[in-house]
Order: sequence, then structure tokens, then C-alpha cells
Amino acid sequence: MQDKYYQFTILKKYPQIIQVYTKKPINVNLNQVTKKKRDTIYQTIAKDQNYQFKKIKSSYQTHSSNVVIINQENLDTEIIDCDALITNLKGVALTMTTADCQSIFLYDPINEVIANIHSGWKGTLNTIVLNTINLMQDKFNSNPQDIIACISPSIGKCCFEVDEDVYLLFKEKFPFIDDFTENKKINNSLIKYYIDTKELNKYLLIKAGLKEDNIEISPICTKCEYNTYHSYRASKNESGRNLSLIALKE
Ligand SMILES: [Zn+2]
Repeated sequence: MQDKYYQFTILKKYPQIIQVYTKKPINVNLNQVTKKKRDTIYQTIAKDQNYQFKKIKSSYQTHSSNVVIINQENLDTEIIDCDALITNLKGVALTMTTADCQSIFLYDPINEVIANIHSGWKGTLNTIVLNTINLMQDKFNSNPQDIIACISPSIGKCCFEVDEDVYLLFKEKFPFIDDFTENKKINNSLIKYYIDTKELNKYLLIKAGLKEDNIEISPICTKCEYNTYHSYRASKNESGRNLSLIALKE
């Protein structure tokens, strides 16, 4: 099972948490596999984790910064235009699909609340991680000091190369972005920028009040390790999707 999924050390301390980040050949890109096939993958995960989920929730991800709380009322509703899910319902798994983007798990062990966030560069730029923490504070009384955060395998600074237009968007939002950026002169007129979005999200989490010891970042770059993980930058439109799943057991 170790070989099949990536798991965070910090969450292993909590037997009530189920956490999975899939590796190849598992692929949940619904442009490439049927819903039926995806459901079979869900069943395999349930079997591997030896747990029967009440519900496995996904959302129609749009690189937004929208957050939805899953409760009894919307448990059977399709969630659209949403890139972060929160719940305190036991047995309800929250999933996101990614290929280079980050999936960020949040867990408040005091109030027993979990979240799963899809944070690509747009989500990071629009601080979806802060929107999620704010909602956990408002609706569940979570204290950021208690929240555990895990950033999944995702594209590293080594491979997240952007042009000046994207760099300037980050610079406008985060005037200190140069602390997280390197640049390379390709020729006299062209500069490429390499932004460390993992460290940027870590910075945002700490600024929101999380303890550094409660944050775990996967060192894996999905593009460098495209043999193991789906990577959009490595495979472009042919790329499959990795599935991240977190759930609270009863
Ligand atoms: Zn890399």
C-alpha cells in the first residue's frame, strides 16, 4: 500500500484520518476515464483503507478561490465552480484532482474538521488557502494554532517556470515575491521566472496563524517525477490526474 499512495507522516498520528494521494497508474481524469472507472478506483481505495465511505465528494474544479462546506443539505448535490471543500461529517471523503497543482489537506483535530484544497498557481495567487482557513474559523470555531496542513506532491520551484506576465501578477499581490523567486536570463530580452509556490503557501499558512511544526510539504516535484505522478507540464493535454482524498472516520 505504501507503494500505491503517497501519505503524509504528520497525519499518520491520527488513526481517525484517512489520507490518500494516488500515484500512477491510477488516473481520475474524467476526460480519459469513465465515471464508472473512477468509481472502481474509489472502491479500490476504500478496500485498501479498509473503510466504507458514506460518500465520496468531488467538485467541478475551475481554478477558482471558492470554498464550500459539505453538510447534510448539500451532501447529494453536485458542487460546481469550487476548489476547496470543508466538512465535519464523519465518513465523508473530500477529493480533489491535480496534475502539478497542489492539493492541500487541512485538519483541525480539536473540532474534528477537515478540508481539501486545490491550489494551482491561480488558487495560490488568490489565496484560496486563506479563504478556507477563514471559513473554518467562522463556521467551526477552528483555531489556526491547532490546524495541521499538508501540501501534496506538486510542481516544484525547479519546474514552475513562468513568463513575466504571471510573475508580475504575483509581484502585484505579494510585493515580497522575489524572496520566493529565481530568474534566469534566456537571452538578452527574455527572462524566465521560477516561483516556489509550496513555500509561498507555507508562508501564507504561517501568516494565518498555523505553527510551522504543523505544516508538512511534500518535497516531490510532480514534473521531475512524472514517471510516478501525472504532470500537466510533462504530458500537456495527454496528462492524467492524481486523486487526493481525505476523510474523518466515525
Ligand atoms: Zn521539478
